[in-house]
This record gives sequence, C-alpha cells and structure tokens, in this order.
Amino acid sequence: MSALAAPIVMPSPPPANAPPGFHLLAKPSGSTCNIDCTYCFFLSKESLYPNDKHRMSEATLEAYIRQLLESHRTPQVTVAWQGGEPTLMKLEFFRRAVELVEQYRQPGQNVQHTFQTNGLLLDDDWCRFFKQHDFLVGLSVDGPRELHDTYRVDRRGQGTFDLVMRGWRCLRKHGVDFNILCTVNAANQQHGRTVYRFFRDELGAKWVQFIPIIERATEQTITIANKGWSEQPGKQRLLYTQTGNLVTERTVGAEQYGRFLIDVFEEWVRHDVGNVYVQLFDVTLEAFFGRHLLCIHAPTCGYGPALEHNGDLYACDHFVEPKYKLGNIHQTHMMALIASPEQRKFGQDKRDTLTAQCRGCKVLPWCNGGCPKDRFALSHDGEPGHNYLCAGLELFFTHVGPTLNMMVQLLRQGRAPAEVMASIAAQDARQGPYRPCPCGSGRKFRFCHGDKAPASPFSGVDRATQVGGTTPPR
Ligand code: SF4
Ligand code: SF4
Repeated sequence: MSALAAPIVMPSPPPANAPPGFHLLAKPSGSTCNIDCTYCFFLSKESLYPNDKHRMSEATLEAYIRQLLESHRTPQVTVAWQGGEPTLMKLEFFRRAVELVEQYRQPGQNVQHTFQTNGLLLDDDWCRFFKQHDFLVGLSVDGPRELHDTYRVDRRGQGTFDLVMRGWRCLRKHGVDFNILCTVNAANQQHGRTVYRFFRDELGAKWVQFIPIIERATEQTITIANKGWSEQPGKQRLLYTQTGNLVTERTVGAEQYGRFLIDVFEEWVRHDVGNVYVQLFDVTLEAFFGRHLLCIHAPTCGYGPALEHNGDLYACDHFVEPKYKLGNIHQTHMMALIASPEQRKFGQDKRDTLTAQCRGCKVLPWCNGGCPKDRFALSHDGEPGHNYLCAGLELFFTHVGPTLNMMVQLLRQGRAPAEVMASIAAQDARQGPYRPCPCGSGRKFRFCHGDKAPASPFSGVDRATQVGGTTPPR
C-alpha cells in the first residue's frame, strides 16, 4: 500500500447496520511478543503472515486512525493498542498515533487511549508519554511471583515477574493510570482472594480484570498443546484455531473459574465497593439496568473487531483466522466492514445459537451464554455448542445475584452502592465468625473471608524497592 494511494472514503450515508460506536483492538506488531507465555496461543498467529515483519506502516496507521474517528458517531472513542506486545513498535510510532488523533478528531470527540502490555519494556520515556497523553495502561500480571511465573515466561523459560514489577514501579512513579489484567488458569485458580489482595494491597490497583485461560485442542493436537504453544527448537509453532473439545492442562477448570470469582467477590464486597473496580462485578451490576458493557456477557456481540498490522480486519481478537477476516481497511472502509452482513451475523449468532439449557437458564440475563469461542461443550441434554465454563458461570452469577440486587436497590434510591458493605458487615456480625464461610470454601468464616484470614503463602513485591517505599493506600 503506497502512502500516496487515494484514501478510502467513508460510506455516506452510513450503512443501515453501522453501529454508532465500537471497540476495535489494534495489533500494530501483529501477534509478535518479546516473551513466550506457555498458554499464549496468539503467537502462533504469526504464521498467518509468513515472511512479514509484523509492523504497522505509517500508511496503515493513518488509515486506521482516520477511519476509526470518522466511523464513530459517539462523543467517546477508544483507541486501543494491543498485541502481541505493542511496545515492540517503539515510542515514535505512538507519538505519531497521538498526532494523527489530533489531526482527525471530530469536533466534540473525546478520545481515550488504552495500551495493553506485559510491562517488560516500560521505562521513563514510555511512562512520561503515557502520563502526558492520559493513556490507561493494562498490565498483565497473574498474581504474586510464584503464580505469575508459572506460565508467564520468557523465551528461555525464565519467569518474568521481576521485570514486570520494574515496569509497574515505573508506571507508579509517573502516576500513570493502570489496570491489571490477570488470567485465571490452572496455577492460580485456587487463589482468587490471594491474587486479588496482591493486586489491591501490593500493587495499589484500582482496576482489575480477570480473563479465563481456555486453550482448546483436538485428539490430534492435545499432546503437543499440553507442552505449550511456546516455540519448540527447530519446530514450527502449531497454529491455534478455535477447534476441538478438549482443553490443555493449563486451562482453568469450569467450576473452579466460578469459585475463583466468588472468592474475589466475597473479599471485594466487604472492603472495596466504590474503591476498586473489578470489571466483571461492575458489568454484571450494569446488566441489572439492561446495559451490557462487556461483549462476553452481552446478548449479542460483533462490535469488538481486531485490526492486524497490515490493515486486515477480523471479526474479533479471538477469531483472527482466515474464515473470520472481514477485509482490509486499505480496500474497504472499516465502517462498511463492521456493518457487513457477515459481521452482523457473527454478532447475532451469539444469541441465535444458544443451547436450550441456556435459553431456560435463570442467570441468562447476566450470562447470556458467555463467549462463542468457549462454546464447545455439551449441555445437560447433550446438545453441542454449550459453554465450557457453564458450571462456573452459573455458580458465580447465582452467588452474586442477591448482593448485586441490594446494590441495585441502593442505586434506585439514589444512594451509593458502597453502602452494601455496611449491610454485609451487619449480616456477618449477626451470623457470627464460626459459621461456614459464604464463599463455599467449607472453612469457618473467621478463617476464610473474616478477620483471621490467612496471610498469603506467596512472596510479594520487595517493599523496600517500591516507589515511595510504602504499600499504596487502599
Ligand atoms: S466472540 Fe467473544 S470476545 Fe469476541 S466479540 Fe464475541 S463475545 Fe466478545
Ligand atoms: S450459566 Fe450456563 S446455562 Fe446459564 S446462560 Fe450461562 S452458559 Fe448458559
């Protein structure tokens, strides 16, 4: 694509199906990364673009920013950078991106930049830049050192915890807004509360997002998949596609995923409502008001496409596969691609392919069957296409429903949802410390989510080297 080629013109009037806004994830360095997490199958997507440097050109950057801003008919636009590892693009690329946003921003448009990183390359220059332009930085951390280092390793198989913490210190030093993105996997699934406390108490996190690790495999690929998607010496990576109804040993257990979330919820609802934002709790609360802010638990999806480094647009970051390629923004305007019948069908299928078990489920209004990529199990009646995580999702939504309903009532009365913490404290006092903990662990409340909760068995950040030398305030 030449930088001098005529720009693709926005369809006018906009196609009937064009959404007023959407959340595109741009992958400027494709799926390339400077580390090699054992569970990360995204790296195998490099093979979709053989003999390619996997670097977004200036022409593609400009087409992306211009089309993104002119496609939005909402005042709020998110420019979301993702990978692979976007810091591999170097800072100059993002300085140019910010200039282009200023050049193409429509009157009244408010632009939020987000940036998902493993944190290894963050330094003063990066963090000054993030601060200057109000970036919200997502930092990938899977918990304290022992849990994080289980799967988040470099190409030599060494844990990356220390390097990530160096990046985190730099973000803190420059006052950059950050959130923690934590995968829930076989290594940390038993430690929800410990992981959450680590983020809150040691990293000072105010925004936390949990995503389940689910790696699918077939009879043919399960053995090699269990060894990890990492580069094997002298061998090509196995290309990951959303096929197979087996899962790897690193995959979170279905019920365990729900138990992990409940473990976190019982801690959060006693101490942190209104102070720490846990994405799934917040979006579930919003769902009570009919607002679905997270595609995974919305009735339909299709508004979160992924842009590859060369301008190819895919239906979703989880479906960067030839079958789900919508087109290229150098040939067709992104608005036309997102409004295309293929993409609208992709999104509608989320609702139209629900199993009978989902359609009759009492938590359907919050769960909505979960993400289609995870629908490879059998339902209770043996119907294929059911969500692998169902047991955990049902457990979680059933568990949190009554408490969130109390928060809904508070909001309807014009009161703060944080007042729910006083109700929970009164309930705890009434029921006493030695009853079974409501989280379902089987332990006594006092020694589980109560005041004698055990200390973390894992090592934390070296406090002496923390910025400011103190634990961040809760
Ligand atoms: S496929 Fe899953 S992750 Fe992708 S847009 Fe739909 S719900 Fe979201
Ligand atoms: S909890 Fe299970 S049955 Fe209910 S909507 Fe979710 S995936 Fe379907």
